[in-house]
Amino acid sequence: MILKATVGHLTHWYRDNKRDLPWREGKNPYQIWISETMLQQTTSRAVIPFYQRFLKSFPTIQDLAQASEGQVLENWAGLGYYSRARNLHKAAQIITEQGHFPKDVKELLELPGVGPYTARAIASIAFEKPVGVVDGNTIRVLSRFYGWNGEWWKTSGRQWVQETMDEWVSWGKSSEVNQAVMELGASHCSPSNPSCLLCPIKKNCQAKNKNLNKDSYPKKKPKRSFEIWIWQPEVCQHQGQIALMKNATLPFLKGQWILPGTGTLKKQKPKSYDYTHSITHHKIYVQVKKNQNLRAQKGLKWVPIKEVPRWCPVSLVQKALRQGGLSC
Ligand code: SF4
Repeated sequence: MILKATVGHLTHWYRDNKRDLPWREGKNPYQIWISETMLQQTTSRAVIPFYQRFLKSFPTIQDLAQASEGQVLENWAGLGYYSRARNLHKAAQIITEQGHFPKDVKELLELPGVGPYTARAIASIAFEKPVGVVDGNTIRVLSRFYGWNGEWWKTSGRQWVQETMDEWVSWGKSSEVNQAVMELGASHCSPSNPSCLLCPIKKNCQAKNKNLNKDSYPKKKPKRSFEIWIWQPEVCQHQGQIALMKNATLPFLKGQWILPGTGTLKKQKPKSYDYTHSITHHKIYVQVKKNQNLRAQKGLKWVPIKEVPRWCPVSLVQKALRQGGLSC
C-alpha cells in the first residue's frame, strides 16, 4: 500500500505544480510526438521556441507529410540530430498513408526513429496506455526512492527500472504518473542538491530517510572516450552552386548531405587545422580544401549556395563554407 499512497501523493502534487508547457494543452498525439522527439536532446524550456516554430510551419501531421525534406530540416535547424527530423518526416508520411495514428507501443515502435522512450510516451500521454516511460529523470527518482544504485545502462538494470515504472503506472492514471515522475526529476529531485524537504514522496524515500549521498544515485555511467577525426571537406563551387554528397562513410552526420571529402580516424590531433567541432563523442578537426575538379564526380548534388542550409543545416558544414570564403 506504500506504493499506492506514494503514487497518490505524487500525482496530487503534479496536478497542482506542473509547468505550463505548450504540448500539455491537449492530448493530440502528433503534438506529443513532436515534443517528445525534441525533448530527447534538450530541456523543456529550450524546446519551447523550436516546438512553436515547427508547429506553426506544420500544424498537422498531413502538413508535415507533404512538406519537402528541405523544409523539415530548415524548421529543425538549431536542434541538432537531424536524422530525427528526417525520421519524423518519413514516419508522418507512413501514418498519413495508414490513415490513423498508432496507439500501441508495438505499432509505434515500427515507425522510423521511434524508440522505446517515444513509443511509451505517446502511448501513455496521448492514449492512456498503462506503460511506464523511462528517461534520465525517471531513473534518478526511482534510484533514490529505492536506494538502488545498479547499472541502469545495462539490460538487467534497464529492466529493473522499466518494470518498476510499469508498476508505478498501474497505481494511477498512466499519463499523470509518468509525467509526474519526470516532473519531479526535473524539479525537486535534481541531479545535485535535491530539495527533499519539498518533495511529495519524501516520506518513503530511501535516499532521504537513510541519508544516502544523493550524488551517488543513480550510479554514474562510465564515460565513452572521445574519438579524434580529421575531416577534409572540399568546397567546390560552380555557377553559384555548391557540391554536396550524402554521407555514407563517416560515423557522424551519417546519411546526411554534407560537403564531399574524406575523414580519417586518428590517435592524435593534427598539428594544423582550420577549426574543431564536436558531435557526440567525435572530436572533429577540420581542414577545408578548395577543389574545382569535382564536377564529374558521381553522387554529387548541386545546390544553390543560398539553399545549402535547407539541405545541410549543420554548423560543421556552414563553418567549412565560411572557411572556404562563402556564406549562405
Ligand atoms: S526525497 Fe529527495 S531524493 Fe527522494 S525522491 Fe524526493 S527529492 Fe528525490
